[in-house]
Amino acid sequence: MNLDVSNVKKSFGGVKALDKCSLSVEQGKITAIIGPNGSGKTTLFNVISRLLPVDTGKLVFGTEEITLLDDYQVSRLGISRTFQDVRLFENLTIRDHIEIALLNTDESLLKSMFRPQRVVVKRVKEILSLVGLNKPLSTFATDLSYGQRKLLDLAIAIAKPHSLLMLDEPVAGVNPVLRERIKEIIKTLHKRGETILVIEHDMNFVMDLAQHIIVMDAGSVIAQGKPRDIQNNKQVLDAYLGE
Ligand code: ADP
Ligand code: MG
Repeated sequence: MNLDVSNVKKSFGGVKALDKCSLSVEQGKITAIIGPNGSGKTTLFNVISRLLPVDTGKLVFGTEEITLLDDYQVSRLGISRTFQDVRLFENLTIRDHIEIALLNTDESLLKSMFRPQRVVVKRVKEILSLVGLNKPLSTFATDLSYGQRKLLDLAIAIAKPHSLLMLDEPVAGVNPVLRERIKEIIKTLHKRGETILVIEHDMNFVMDLAQHIIVMDAGSVIAQGKPRDIQNNKQVLDAYLGE
């Protein structure tokens, strides 16, 4: 489903984290948000997923205005996200994490009571195989490496019933091999018809990944377009060089 952000403002004290921020995410595309550190990318995700209220502005997902909804309502409408700082339950296993994600809605929780365990386990394994997390299902989150935690966070976001997947710096701090693998996972999801909004600090990473690139600086969108248009945009280069 399409997502439309119109004129959103969000300040923290004197800091304008989002300043008249407007953008659209088109169904079926990979849209990337790039921009220097502190340009408001994560704050944008936080207001979309309703972890933070907006000061002013409007958010519309599909046909529904979500500006004033609660975070769980937005999640049930089908917006699923990962966190830049991966958030896991240390004393839960890989399987626990994915099962909880799969049962994200009341309705599916009810259905799951009548769903055989082997069906659930099969689905958990499918998702883990998609992200390439090759660890026993009984592994505790606390026993995972940094890269494996990133993959589990991605698997959780995929497992939640959704129609928009938002990824906040899915490759930050991971090694080059895993970086490429995560890029391929995102491409696979896109081929399956998913709508994806991905934040990435590194411009090069999104160049052959996204169909549409949105550039943020100081809380606003300063440029957007196809990757090749963005690559040569002077304002974009200035924002990065001035960092
Ligand atoms: P980005 O993800 O692009 O690096 P952020 O959205 O995290 O940027 O931050 C944008 C600005 O808002 C920064 O100046 C940051 O310090 C500030 N900020 C973000 N979240 C908070 C918060 N919860 N409280 C106070 N300031 C915040
Ligand atoms: Mg951020």
